[in-house]
Amino acid sequence: MRITLKSIHLKNLYSALSIVIFILFISACATTEKQIATKASSVTTNEVAVAFKSRAQNQYLTQQQAFKRSSRVSQVNYKLNFNLSNEESFSANSEITFKLNNNKIPLTIDLNKAQITSIVVNGEAFSAEQLLTSYNSWFITLAPQYLIEGSNKVTVNFIRKHSTNGEGLHRFKDPVDDKVYLYSHFEPAAAQQMFALFDQPDIKATFEMTVSAPKGWVVLSATKENKILRQGDFKIWHFPKSLKLSPYNFSMHAGPYKMWQDNSGKYPLRLFARQSVADQITPKDWFTYTKQGFEFFDDYFGINYPFKKYDQILVPDFLYGAMENSAAVTFAESGFLTNGEMSKSRRERLANVIMHEMAHQWFGNLATMKWWNGLWLNESFAAFMATLATSEVTEFSNAWRTFYASGKQKAYRADQSITTHPIEVPVHSTANAFDNIDAITYSKGASVLNQLRHFLGEKTFQKGIHNYLKDNAYKNAVLDDFINSLSKTSGKNLNQWQQQWLYQAGVNTIEASYHCKNEKISSFHLLQSASDKQPTLREQKVQLALFKANKPGFSLTKKISITYQGEKTNVDALIGVDCPDLVYPNYQDWGFVKVNLDKRSFITTKQYLAQIQDPLLRSMLWQSLWDSVKDGSLPLNEYLQVALANAPLEQDYTTLGQVLAQLSSAKAYLNKALGSQHNYVKSIASQLEEITWQSTRANSDNKNMQRLWFNSYLGFAQSKNALTNLYKLLNGKYSLENLTISQDVRWDIIAQLSRYNFAKAKGLITQELIKDNSDTGEKSAIYAQVIAPNAQVKSDWLAKIQEKNNNISFAKLRVAMSALYPSEQNHFNEQSAVQRINSLSTIDKINGPVFMRSYNHLIPAICNEVSIARLAKAVNELTELSTGTKRSLLVKQQEDLRCMMIKEAINL
Ligand SMILES: [Zn+2]
Repeated sequence: MRITLKSIHLKNLYSALSIVIFILFISACATTEKQIATKASSVTTNEVAVAFKSRAQNQYLTQQQAFKRSSRVSQVNYKLNFNLSNEESFSANSEITFKLNNNKIPLTIDLNKAQITSIVVNGEAFSAEQLLTSYNSWFITLAPQYLIEGSNKVTVNFIRKHSTNGEGLHRFKDPVDDKVYLYSHFEPAAAQQMFALFDQPDIKATFEMTVSAPKGWVVLSATKENKILRQGDFKIWHFPKSLKLSPYNFSMHAGPYKMWQDNSGKYPLRLFARQSVADQITPKDWFTYTKQGFEFFDDYFGINYPFKKYDQILVPDFLYGAMENSAAVTFAESGFLTNGEMSKSRRERLANVIMHEMAHQWFGNLATMKWWNGLWLNESFAAFMATLATSEVTEFSNAWRTFYASGKQKAYRADQSITTHPIEVPVHSTANAFDNIDAITYSKGASVLNQLRHFLGEKTFQKGIHNYLKDNAYKNAVLDDFINSLSKTSGKNLNQWQQQWLYQAGVNTIEASYHCKNEKISSFHLLQSASDKQPTLREQKVQLALFKANKPGFSLTKKISITYQGEKTNVDALIGVDCPDLVYPNYQDWGFVKVNLDKRSFITTKQYLAQIQDPLLRSMLWQSLWDSVKDGSLPLNEYLQVALANAPLEQDYTTLGQVLAQLSSAKAYLNKALGSQHNYVKSIASQLEEITWQSTRANSDNKNMQRLWFNSYLGFAQSKNALTNLYKLLNGKYSLENLTISQDVRWDIIAQLSRYNFAKAKGLITQELIKDNSDTGEKSAIYAQVIAPNAQVKSDWLAKIQEKNNNISFAKLRVAMSALYPSEQNHFNEQSAVQRINSLSTIDKINGPVFMRSYNHLIPAICNEVSIARLAKAVNELTELSTGTKRSLLVKQQEDLRCMMIKEAINL
């Protein structure tokens, strides 16, 4: 974008902006005009060219450039001014003061796609020509002669469009009441979409802010406002200087949000949400978990929460689950709004996410990574602490089991994937900041930290964390600082641990190998193996547990902890112990390692699964069976035989959720591998319908279990009978004791009816949308529409997605992407498969990583020879893809190969 004086003509501003802005810009423009005469001649083309050379001409910043800049710049303070209205653009002013230790080379300041109206550097205003030549629509380049060795002040005035893709200062207009809501999201480097700054984590700064906003709005940020002045139809909010923060931790959110408060705990708490969704929130749950979290973390870290107040805000169209902005945390509405009572698993997730973002306030916001290669530690640590806190201080004492069944399984999968990577990897530029943000980063990292806690001992680990936070408060730190703190506190050298766990990718497998004589163990070894591609063997502390299947119970006979290393570890302590029916070598889940059940244990598992009392062990054994299917060693039909017999007997809520998810994946594999019309697939589909429906009815006295079963039924219902059943529940002709058909469930039913072409589905979508025209309603309607087995609908939506139709928000396009090709619609998937592969490079080129992370799910993997060949060809030929897309392509290829392997193993 180029700046022209025409584009900042005052006439354009009148309609959109308030009097306050008018005055601001009068002075800004006047300065600019005046300077045209005096400064224009002082910039030569050559000088500008030299200045621009200091950095690639795009929105990204490399680590090298960032470190060069942070070595020169310090003591940064931002004075920010924003003029907000209901319109699509905002105007702003950034005043940056900082110390510079070297003014021999140009300095860049990030500001993305703004219309700059003036730049003043150390009292000198840039001329129109200087404005043109010093700004390339991504960053401003200040040539050396404007800079001072010592204190500098740069002021930038600009206008910018609000973003609608979830980054920068996002704008959302509520379809229900036309109210406009804004929120910011900066991680990894999108603060530059809102103001002019040094957008990198290791230039920490203090932030002071003034915001002019319509009078009915609230504005919140890292500090609490200390002044609000009324000015006509606007209010001017002033926010005092913050503590030192990395830019990505600063935030500002504004709009007519509804506010709840709770001052009964140690810190003042507020919760915000859009007016039209206010009744879909239970503030009591939020405040309860938040207060429990503060009690826990203040004590655990041994450092009081530094940021004084704590705001949590639910926002629409959010790209991620939540974001830990200092003292003003944002949460995705989509994860936490509910029509009707929130299910137990969603409440647990709420507690967990609240804890996760809160843990970041210390680990991340107070002590911050130096560069994006440290993001994993930030996330791993928060994921680990969230689970620990949730399990210890909330009602969800099962949190570690939930972690095992969800996050940890994703980590095992990712670590066995062709694209696995070490936990700690270099990050070249901000474009790559999220390349490695996956299950390895969050859940493998969290598992490894948990394992380290067992390895070092609970108290030592906690003390080491305290020391790290204390030493690095308000600073930036690197992995070695963290490891050194733990090492120093524990007196243990962690070099080898760090090498094995953080710098080498891949997961190991352990298996018990033993012999018995006269019903006593005569020898016992723990065997460790690694894949050919990731051959590292590791040292780790785990628990071995032995069980006897004495009818009718199932009992633990022996448990010992052991630190294993290398290929074979002798466990002589077990010699002479009663010969077990089952050995589980990662009892209570201390270690990050896959378990191969020995032959006898595998048979015992299949036979006694439902009788095993310990829910975590049962969960781990369910997982072993499912892993065996995914590894090709257990035929899917044999797994289904065990699973269909045992699932209805499962009484534990968390484990049942895990099993039902496995069954859902199993059905998807069958659809893809054999086709939904195959007799065996039809028979399994009908059994799944039947079991989930009967279990829903049988659990009417247990609301949580009933809901879990019903949600599963909702996903499995496909026969005419089942669909009619759903339709009757929808229109009230039929009801189930204790089961409420809330607005969310209504949409789920309609989507399922549409997915299986129920005659009335199309009309139901239109009708329901009249009843519920909320943002959730609009998104649900898109989902229901796109998932219909209709070739025209599919191709229309694919076109909208591929052209990134600007009339449709990214959040909505993302919903459409997720609905296009369910597993039983392989033929529709195939219809556009070639086109999707052929256009992948182009789409990758014109869209950023945020869009591609969702879009890449549309890379076709159809589970047949044609698809396998097509993906192999794409991997070979599409050499220009971005790192993220290349990785997605490889993962899809591997998934497709796995599907083929599962298909071949089926023995009917
Ligand atoms: Zn996080």
